[in-house]
Amino acid sequence: MSATTGSHEQPKPAQHKVHSTHSGRLEPCTSLADFSLGVVLGHGSFGRVTLGKHKATKTVCAIKALSKAQIIKNQQVAHLRAERDILKIVDCHFIVKLLGFFHDDHCVYFVLQCVNGGEFFRHLRARGRLTEEHARFYAAEVLLAFQYFHSKEIVYRDLKPENILLDNKGHIKMTDLGFCKIVPAAKRTYTLCGTPDYLAPEIILNKGHGKAVDWWAYGVLLYELMAGYPPFFDSDVTNTYKKILGGRFTFPPHFSISSRDLIRKLLVADLSKRYGCLASGVDDIKNHPWFKGTDWGAAEALVHEPPIKPTVKSPDDTTNFDDYSSLPPILHDHVLSKTEQAMFTGF
Ligand code: ATP
Ligand code: MG
Repeated sequence: MSATTGSHEQPKPAQHKVHSTHSGRLEPCTSLADFSLGVVLGHGSFGRVTLGKHKATKTVCAIKALSKAQIIKNQQVAHLRAERDILKIVDCHFIVKLLGFFHDDHCVYFVLQCVNGGEFFRHLRARGRLTEEHARFYAAEVLLAFQYFHSKEIVYRDLKPENILLDNKGHIKMTDLGFCKIVPAAKRTYTLCGTPDYLAPEIILNKGHGKAVDWWAYGVLLYELMAGYPPFFDSDVTNTYKKILGGRFTFPPHFSISSRDLIRKLLVADLSKRYGCLASGVDDIKNHPWFKGTDWGAAEALVHEPPIKPTVKSPDDTTNFDDYSSLPPILHDHVLSKTEQAMFTGF
């Protein structure tokens, strides 16, 4: 399915404060009227992501619209602020870039770089599982994204294949910074958030958590890449939690000795033993035998050819996304009261 822009033009909504812009930001970017809207690319718990074309510059982008009513109902206002603040400061090839931000009476809108190689999740499911060599390529890029986040004291907290997009060449871009939080070293945060299969034991136990949860989730991802399913999978989420807390998982026979060793060193409940959180930090993972031969400088410089090359014919090619044509692009579901609207003051 190829996208058609301009098919869902919206009337100009009430305008609110516009964000200050830095290089790479789209101007003007004050309301939906600045964009032609195309098909829905994806949706999550709170938002809907639609293909857009910036009328003034013809830049193709992805517009993530989050319903203010849903955000209030689910007590996500603080997460939303964090998502915006963090998107404003991140500048890393492996993380999606913010091109603009605005809000109207119904929604807040993140205007993002459109990453149209599709969800890594879709490519992974189509293949079942990856070879260790191919898994290593994606594991290296995700590690570099985490290294960047953590260098800014940001905990990501929502690693899963659905939140990893592939660009038109096949390199990863992490999206959905909705659960990101700045947590300085030595500090902890307590909100239960993330996706059940990827939750670290300290989140489930509500002990307070920090960057270490990302390295636990990284261990889950490594396993899922090579197995095709996550290590603590169970159709009943309560059992998933029990398995996580009991540290109960087994490896399929095809896992190599070094992959098992690295995963075991990441999926450790004891933070004084979990790789990524020890004195040498991320270097323990980078120097592990499973990554032997990985040229980290080359990975950072995008020198290696990605194993999966998505077919992308144009910047607005949406063939790598599922068909959500039955969904309207933007949710306008509820008129907010003045008090509710005031919760978005300063956005
Ligand atoms: P969640 O339920 O995971 O919290 P969410 O409501 O925060 O979801 P996102 O995960 O940010 O929404 O986006 C939903 C989907 O939209 C993604 O999984 C992806 O398919 C698509 N998407 C998000 N950002 C982009 C982008 N920049 N370019 C292309 N597609 C995107
Ligand atoms: Mg998501």
